[in-house]
Amino acid sequence: MQCIHNGFGLIEFNEELTGPEFAQRVEERLPKAEVEALCGATVLEIRKEGDRHAVYCVSPQVGVARIEARAVILAMGCRERNRGKIRIPGTRPAGVFTAGLAQRLVNIDGYIPGKEVVIIGSGDIGLIMARRLSWSGCKVHAVVEILPYPSGLTRNIVQCLKDFGIPLYLSHLTTEIYGKDRVEGVEITPIENGALMFGKSFRIPCDTILLSVGLVPENELSRNAGIEINPATNGPWVDSRLMTNVPGIFACSNVLHVHDLVDFVVEEAKAAGGFAADWLSGAGPAHELRLKTGPNVRYLVPGRVEPARDNKLYLRSLVVKNDAILEVKIDGRVVRSQKKAHIQPSEMLSLSLGPKDFSGIGQDSTVEVSLR
Ligand SMILES: Cc1cc2nc3c(=O)[nH]c(=O)nc-3n(C[C@H](O)[C@H](O)[C@H](O)COP(=O)(O)OP(=O)(O)OC[C@H]3O[C@@H](n4cnc5c(N)ncnc54)[C@H](O)[C@@H]3O)c2cc1C
Repeated sequence: MQCIHNGFGLIEFNEELTGPEFAQRVEERLPKAEVEALCGATVLEIRKEGDRHAVYCVSPQVGVARIEARAVILAMGCRERNRGKIRIPGTRPAGVFTAGLAQRLVNIDGYIPGKEVVIIGSGDIGLIMARRLSWSGCKVHAVVEILPYPSGLTRNIVQCLKDFGIPLYLSHLTTEIYGKDRVEGVEITPIENGALMFGKSFRIPCDTILLSVGLVPENELSRNAGIEINPATNGPWVDSRLMTNVPGIFACSNVLHVHDLVDFVVEEAKAAGGFAADWLSGAGPAHELRLKTGPNVRYLVPGRVEPARDNKLYLRSLVVKNDAILEVKIDGRVVRSQKKAHIQPSEMLSLSLGPKDFSGIGQDSTVEVSLR
């Protein structure tokens, strides 16, 4: 609701919508689907009770409620990494916010977090906030990124930084935060050949720091429900039908792996709904093949494919490269080779594999996806 910029829904609705408009369009579909929505409710626990899952939640409307279900779809989204997660040295003054919190303050509560701003990390929320705060009369001095390439989408680098003349320092680390009661500045140090160049450190005076240093899938509930987590995504391991290791519990969207575009979130969520419905109507176990991440692939979701039907896979690259090739090998034999004009870790890639890609394979074949 706080994403009042456009850029949502280009694929799903073939229109460029704001976040609230996108949410409304999705919500308008609910009456047709006869789904009851319980808003303002927090799920505290999911527990296996007999052959059902009991979902315990609290809300001002219903108090404590226990909802029984044979299938549960996890879609809790993700949370922002905070200062503790990235261990920036320095004092603990007021004025350090995560970018999402600052976005809420500006777009929903009507406050600006400060006037002289430095943004640490080049994630999409930080980039969007660089533009938003510039429009609100704040001075955004810089975006500082530890990696040699940006973490956000190219379109956001162009529209939110370049168009506003905001410098982006790549391969730079924030080595100190100054200020006692309120932030007074940050020290920035370049990284060259993996080493911090303290002789070249510089200070940027500011009263506000926004952190845009990554998102982590929100999996407290999942862990407590006994769901195994994939360390590469921080989301659950899922089979080819998006089911976790706990039968009847499915996962999709940002809780499964962090997506960049909401259109892919919806695509994956629809698939999860379909798989949960199939499972409820007694669909038997599928013949699946194991997926292996090959060179330059950070992760692949889901972790398995079903040769008998079309499969949609999502993956992220470990490298930034022009003229790359996305390659699929089955037992060492190349079955698919796709040219990619440009790949980078911040832009999720997707791939469809269908029965014709799997012709002539064995029962235990391994499918490897790589980028080169
Ligand atoms: C600042 C920003 C800018 C973005 N810009 C774009 C853009 O321009 N275009 C685009 O396509 N995408 C954009 N995105 C990405 C897009 O918004 C996300 O990918 C998408 O919202 C993820 O959907 P989700 O359903 O997985 O998670 P969310 O939308 O985060 O939904 C998860 C929901 O689960 C609820 N929840 C969590 N835990 C519990 C619990 N225990 N009990 C009950 N409910 C719970 C949360 O309150 C939340 O409502 C942007 C995201 C951000 C943050």
